[in-house]
Amino acid sequence: KTFQELKLPDHLLKAVFEMGFERPSAIQEEALPRILANPPRNVIGQAQSGSGKTAAFVLGMLYRIQVDAPATCQALCVTPTRELAVQIFQNAVTPMAAHMMGLKVRLALSGEVLDRGAKLDAHMVIGTPGKVVDWLKRKIIDHKRIKVFVLDEADNMVSESGHRANSLLIKKQMPKGCQSLLFSATFPPEVIAFAEKMVYNPDKILI
Ligand code: AMP
Repeated sequence: KTFQELKLPDHLLKAVFEMGFERPSAIQEEALPRILANPPRNVIGQAQSGSGKTAAFVLGMLYRIQVDAPATCQALCVTPTRELAVQIFQNAVTPMAAHMMGLKVRLALSGEVLDRGAKLDAHMVIGTPGKVVDWLKRKIIDHKRIKVFVLDEADNMVSESGHRANSLLIKKQMPKGCQSLLFSATFPPEVIAFAEKMVYNPDKILI
């Protein structure tokens, strides 16, 4: 398969080629048709780092975002560490959104300070579970227009009880019809149980 056959819109196709990607990786070939489907499909993917999973879910997030709409959160990604959130932002979102003028992305990490009553002013949020819960509770993130919810490295979320509990709280706030995408390198029983709570009626992808 080619990226064209995966029906990526032109602005994302252009960015992907500029990044030097020639062909979709195995996980991208399996996951992108579901991620880009209308109506959207929920996906649970087993993928190691190096598989290209980040590009798969970032393309999905960017595909659903309407930049013209007011900058309230439309796509949310939670990760177990701040380093991973920063990596996703710098290495995937920034180059892939090269042709999305006006896109605003915000990292939700400990140490990020926002005044009471402050507006988020971003189309996309990437962060760690604790900070995302905090911002949802304080209504800094408006959950109502979130169209895609991504949880990366689920195995590393489950191994920290705070992350696990906060991820479940976030999931409960997602609006009806919000697409959920969950990735994990491994699926021991506790990760399977967690994934089943996080993602309703998923397509399961094994690479
Ligand atoms: P990840 O598995 O998301 O950590 O990505 C691993 C690396 O593969 C990253 O450096 C990506 O830039 C790169 N990558 C992702 N998809 C492709 C692709 N289709 N072709 C070539 N490189 C890719």
